[in-house]
Amino acid sequence: MPLTIIHERWKCIGCGSCVAVDPDRWVMADDNFADLKESTHTKVPEGTRETRDVEDVGMSQEAADICPVNCIHVKKK
Ligand code: SF4
Repeated sequence: MPLTIIHERWKCIGCGSCVAVDPDRWVMADDNFADLKESTHTKVPEGTRETRDVEDVGMSQEAADICPVNCIHVKKK
């Protein structure tokens, strides 16, 4: 099922949980906040939004569920 993963990066506190559960799609960046790998970066008033379309959910729902600040979202396309 086609999905879009959305990361509201400005909310990230750099806890690393998403990288721990879904290292195929998440990585800690040099600024110690998470990056969604292979994502498109869009500037919005709050900061940077990262989005990536995927065909399978993989561990991304787990990453969204574990994020303590609820800045990862998985939506059906
Ligand atoms: S789980 Fe959320 S707050 Fe923690 S590093 Fe990942 S995106 Fe940032």
